[in-house]
Amino acid sequence: MKYLGNKNTMEVHDIDNEKKQCQLNEIKEEHKEGFYTLQQAHAAGFDNCHWCIGNSKR
Ligand SMILES: [Zn+2]
Repeated sequence: MKYLGNKNTMEVHDIDNEKKQCQLNEIKEEHKEGFYTLQQAHAAGFDNCHWCIGNSKR
């Protein structure tokens, strides 16, 4: 797994580039969704995290 989506915020994070602002350890288990590519995450409706990926469309 390379990307972690938060279904609460609908943001996706790059696990290998985690920043403290991502607060990945604050994401509840039931809100986590893992992805292997950003394309998959975008197709599932997730937007990029501003801190670890950037180029957010919001
Ligand atoms: Zn992030």
